[in-house]
Amino acid sequence: MSVRVVARIRPLLKNELDKDKIVEAADSKAVVRIPNPKNESELYSFQFSSVYDEAATQQEMFENEVSPTVKHLFKGCDVTLFAYGVTGTGKTHTMRGGKSLADRGVIPRLLSSIYRRARKVEKDTNNATQIEVSMSYYEVYCDKIFDLFEPPDKRTPAGLPIRDNQNGKAVVVGLTERSCTTLKEFEQLYDQANLNRSTSATKLNAHSSRSHAILCVKVTQTTGGEVQVSTASAIDLAGSEDNRRTDNNKERLVESASINKSLFVLASCVEAISKKQSRIPYRESKMTRILALGQNNGHCVMILNLAPVRSYHMDTLSSLNFANRTKKI
Ligand code: ADP
Ligand code: MG
Repeated sequence: MSVRVVARIRPLLKNELDKDKIVEAADSKAVVRIPNPKNESELYSFQFSSVYDEAATQQEMFENEVSPTVKHLFKGCDVTLFAYGVTGTGKTHTMRGGKSLADRGVIPRLLSSIYRRARKVEKDTNNATQIEVSMSYYEVYCDKIFDLFEPPDKRTPAGLPIRDNQNGKAVVVGLTERSCTTLKEFEQLYDQANLNRSTSATKLNAHSSRSHAILCVKVTQTTGGEVQVSTASAIDLAGSEDNRRTDNNKERLVESASINKSLFVLASCVEAISKKQSRIPYRESKMTRILALGQNNGHCVMILNLAPVRSYHMDTLSSLNFANRTKKI
């Protein structure tokens, strides 16, 4: 499996009170610079596969980082995309994006590209190859798995179980899989499921930023009796902020402990993959176990979302430290 870790610094927001930009991109060198909080004359530098500053468009993010993976997907490789970062840094913007065409995030663009390619393959093979697309969408909250096609009031509080199938791959038992034959169909299902995510947000106090949202798009290509299946997964991770510093509410602490653990395992996996180590600790958290991270010859892109301003200084630094251990040495 190959892995790219890229940084994206969002612009100042219109309503943002803090205008003090402290994060700098040397995008030609793929370096992010940030002052040492204890001695601001000293700058720390962090190297990435690529760095995007506030001028980067949604189109650019997709074309550079996601579009190149689509051909691998059609060759049968899995693709895994992560948005990692503190709440408010642009993870959902990067993944899902806004309603207008220009604002669309990498997920709808990826699907659009998958459908375009599928139609082309079918046409080029005179329909000898048939391609089906289906999706599942779930969240991992406090280490429990919830189907986003289930309305929150219908969920079992314990969440869905994971079991190893006969191939030794972990699967979520009882997860809804919906077929989506067109982009329009996908978008309807995706919007509907996202509603289930935000509904619980109002009930469970910003629940959505405390859970990982995992979208899996399965591409099945059938040629005669031969079937090839590959999956593109896009994960809008829980906010990486350390709530132990700012909030000692008991429920928040339980959430934080579980988020910290799963992000730690994720970082360890990405690091192991980028260093081509043979042991990847993907079984140590539910999310990486289901994704079977690093267990095939697929492609992984982690987008590290960053806010440019001082009010995020410590969190930005810990985000950068997290991503830096994953970078290729
Ligand atoms: P997160 O999901 O990490 O909590 P959001 O994606 O909700 O963060 O982004 C926080 C706010 O910043 C939103 O209002 C979003 O529209 C805006 N935003 C984030 N990234 C960008 C960007 N690259 N360009 C313009 N606005 C952005
Ligand atoms: Mg979000």
